[in-house]
Amino acid sequence: MSSRRTALALTAAIALLAPIALAENAPTSTPGSTVGGSAPDAPVSPPLAARPASQTSTSTPTETPAGPTVTITLADGATLRCKEQAAQPFLIRGNWFKGDPALGRKMLEDAIKYRTKEYGYFEGFGNPAWNKHPPRFYAKGMSFMGLGVQINEKVIPALKCVEAALKAAHVDTAYHPTSAGGIRFSNTYRGFEVSNHVYGIALDIEPSKNSCCGCVAPWPDHPLCKNKKLTVYERMAMPKSWVEVFERYGFYWLGHDVLQDTMHFEFLGDPAQVTEPATAGGAQTASAP
Ligand SMILES: [Zn+2]
Repeated sequence: MSSRRTALALTAAIALLAPIALAENAPTSTPGSTVGGSAPDAPVSPPLAARPASQTSTSTPTETPAGPTVTITLADGATLRCKEQAAQPFLIRGNWFKGDPALGRKMLEDAIKYRTKEYGYFEGFGNPAWNKHPPRFYAKGMSFMGLGVQINEKVIPALKCVEAALKAAHVDTAYHPTSAGGIRFSNTYRGFEVSNHVYGIALDIEPSKNSCCGCVAPWPDHPLCKNKKLTVYERMAMPKSWVEVFERYGFYWLGHDVLQDTMHFEFLGDPAQVTEPATAGGAQTASAP
């Protein structure tokens, strides 16, 4: 099994204290390739050297005040209230590379086990005894802001909550992405990491316009990345307000990471804590007429 190799590789990498920023997203535009892991893998290149200081510090998710109450309606007519939650720290890749290496290794191992149990077993990572199905088994198509995406069915309610909140706050009016990508069936990280795209819990919004300055070439040479005066929020077409809404519902924005992957959100919340019955007292809401 590769789990031992993975553990050893991770130990080595953490010992070097050099986060290996690999290609999480293909740097090319993939308009229209919204379904089924057709996004091209990024070209293989050596791990990036340490980024300049301005790019190595990760930002933290914005502390945003609680938003307005939003609800979603399921196919059966039931209405559910969206619960706000933060990303779970042990699932955030940036936390695996700072502080105690042993703790970082433990977090990554826990993260692989958690994702396998919740979202499917991806070959080469973790143990198939934790989940007999691959992530593909849980993949479903959905519409997000008018774009077709295929993601893990457990994340659909969370994305629906984000969409409802974007619309409730009218932050959807100024930005209209033309492409999005969800699940992939190959790992775009190399080495010991596995992309959240393979679990169907990551979503890329308009890869052609939202930069990833820490990814492989040609992104670092992109004008948005060359201009060191820009903040990470200024290196994308997507408004910051979108990031704030996603973060309310358990999504982590990889713009905070050394990768500065501004197109990329991943659901790192608890899928069991996304919604609650809309009526007080815990009773299920009656179906819509
Ligand atoms: Zn991505």
